[in-house]
Amino acid sequence: MEVCLKIKAINGFKDILPEEVATWQKIETTARDIFRRFGLQEIRLPILEKTELFARSIGEATDIVEKEMYTFVDKGITLRPEATASLLRAYIENGLHVKQPVQRLFTIGPMFRHERPQKGRQRQFHQIDIEVIGALEPEIDAELMALGQMLLNELGLTVSLEVNSLGCPKCRPDFRTKLVAYLQERTESLCEDCKRRTTTNPLRVLDCKKRNCQQLVQDAPSILDSLCADCNLHFTAVQKQLDSLGVDYSLNKFMVRGLDYYTRTTFEFLTEDLGSQAAVAAGGRYDGLIEQLGGPKNMPGIGFAMGMERLALLLQQQDNIIQPQRSDVYVAALGKQALEFCAPIVHQLRKQGVRAAMDYSNRSLKAQMKQAGRVNARFALIIGDQELEDQQGVVRNMDDKKQIQFPLHEPAEETAAQLSTLLRLE
Ligand SMILES: [Zn+2]
Ligand SMILES: [Zn+2]
Repeated sequence: MEVCLKIKAINGFKDILPEEVATWQKIETTARDIFRRFGLQEIRLPILEKTELFARSIGEATDIVEKEMYTFVDKGITLRPEATASLLRAYIENGLHVKQPVQRLFTIGPMFRHERPQKGRQRQFHQIDIEVIGALEPEIDAELMALGQMLLNELGLTVSLEVNSLGCPKCRPDFRTKLVAYLQERTESLCEDCKRRTTTNPLRVLDCKKRNCQQLVQDAPSILDSLCADCNLHFTAVQKQLDSLGVDYSLNKFMVRGLDYYTRTTFEFLTEDLGSQAAVAAGGRYDGLIEQLGGPKNMPGIGFAMGMERLALLLQQQDNIIQPQRSDVYVAALGKQALEFCAPIVHQLRKQGVRAAMDYSNRSLKAQMKQAGRVNARFALIIGDQELEDQQGVVRNMDDKKQIQFPLHEPAEETAAQLSTLLRLE
């Protein structure tokens, strides 16, 4: 006989199993609730886009575009590696700025990057993405960070916020020149990647994870010393507003983010609770990007994304593992006649909004009570031949095991109505 090999999921593509889903739903529900308070609207976007969109927005010389994208080369399309580019494409294509000058949007969904899979980081990963388009004011930057902090706090997580400014097309070239000069004097000690980055994307050297590189850039020129007057004013105002909203933060001049499109404010929310320091949310301003993608001129934007895998891990490693919702009642039918009698009752209970469970295997009472425990039912309704004859079922409280008699009626709708009233009172 031929042996059938099990087909497994692709490396880096993970199932989110039923017992994990409650955690994911909790993250989404909390996020949606907070977004409502901040006046954000949801937008749903396609997963595939033209490859050019990402090359033009994220940048040709970034790790993402150079080596991490899932691209159908013959079709010129790519699985989105992040959400901002798609969201801006939709914003421009649908002329959203005409309808409302400032758009506050969010989207939730899977992204794809061909990276080495690790704890909390898959090749298909999920993000909650927030973007505010059309507002240049520094208060918006602070408001978004306050939103991020509120969301993470309401999820019960302890995070720290780091902030930096990357300047603008006016002041960044000057900084870049200074940085390249500094790096070129020390090329010998840089890692292979950073040697290359010195010419292609020198800012990325600042956040290289290799210890040698990290030590080497300690005394590198700081972007914060190179900001032009406007960028300086903006960044000062952001910090002032963070203070007045009571948002704790620290400055990190080495934070550059992996994407070319960032200007001015960038920020990351970090946790120590995943073994090493890891970002759970990150983003920044991208004031030139909309125009660069063919959108209206001088249209500013700022946004950030939260990694849902990491959030779920953090929530799961807290003690408060989120339990799936309990069933209200498990109906245990003993015998063929009882099965026929009970199925319509269960259907009517569900119609009336009750979470009702039963199975049709006609197993022993003991086996069915075990099943009632598995679905974590609050009550069980037990009906066998004797109960049918007496027109009296038994309702058992599954927590304290107390039992009461429960009169059965015809039609099923009537029994269901009486039972749902009883469950509501208990
Ligand atoms: Zn500037
Ligand atoms: Zn390096």
